[in-house]
Amino acid sequence: MKLDSKDKQQFINLVRGFEGESEFDGLLEQLGNEYLIMNDLLLAKHNTFFQIDSLVISHDTIYLFEIKNYEGDYYIEGDKWYLCSGTEIQSPLIQLKRNETLLRRFLQPYQLSHITKAFLVFINPEFTLYKAPRDEMIIFPSQLKRFMKGLSLGKPQLMENQLQLAKKILAEHQDKSPYTRLPTYKYEQLQKGIICWKCRAIETKIDGGQLLCSICSAVENADSAILRSVEELRLLFPERKLTTNAIYEWCGAMVSKKTIRRVMKANYELTGHGRTAHFIKK
Ligand SMILES: [Zn+2]
Repeated sequence: MKLDSKDKQQFINLVRGFEGESEFDGLLEQLGNEYLIMNDLLLAKHNTFFQIDSLVISHDTIYLFEIKNYEGDYYIEGDKWYLCSGTEIQSPLIQLKRNETLLRRFLQPYQLSHITKAFLVFINPEFTLYKAPRDEMIIFPSQLKRFMKGLSLGKPQLMENQLQLAKKILAEHQDKSPYTRLPTYKYEQLQKGIICWKCRAIETKIDGGQLLCSICSAVENADSAILRSVEELRLLFPERKLTTNAIYEWCGAMVSKKTIRRVMKANYELTGHGRTAHFIKK
């Protein structure tokens, strides 16, 4: 469906944020076994939720990383942050400090000897911040390489108690954020068809057992394209029964019911008979 401009902007921001975090994850993965890395944590203390992009545990330190994929020119006046257009934005530094405080409180019951360090990482090389403060908490793109190098120098191996700590933190991870805001959508309002795995366009066709995208020319095996669409249907409408007809309609009548039945039988479990027959996840 077409998103309105507010939802579209939120979507773009989420995608950009996700890309930035993925890029930083890639850097963290190079650190080696002396660190435990946990991404995208949602924790709560006394009903106050806080989200952590990356939490890294070493033998003596707990690192909190907030990742920003800002692009373009920004400036600071006092402790306020602005886009170059003059629009004020939420200060990411204040956000980081709030998260750090909440994390410290969250960790208090564990009585750790670790110190906590929080960093605001700007991952995008196209980012410029005018009148930037000389703040050790901020890592600019030009400092990132050196910062990571400094981290990876001579750390002792992790001990069992660090693993235990990580497990305890993961057990506290909340699945659902009260702040998630999804656009409202109805089944009838959505355009049906199989979207391209690569560019998400719906301008696709099935030819010779393959899904072809007329926008980006990506090719995908038709069976896997069907399964991907079924997963999308499950995610968007978990209450709908996965009948052959339902999948046929969802896929925009692009593939035969015979093909759908074959692919579904091989990957899902068939339950019920006749009109109530539908597939469930194995
Ligand atoms: Zn495409």
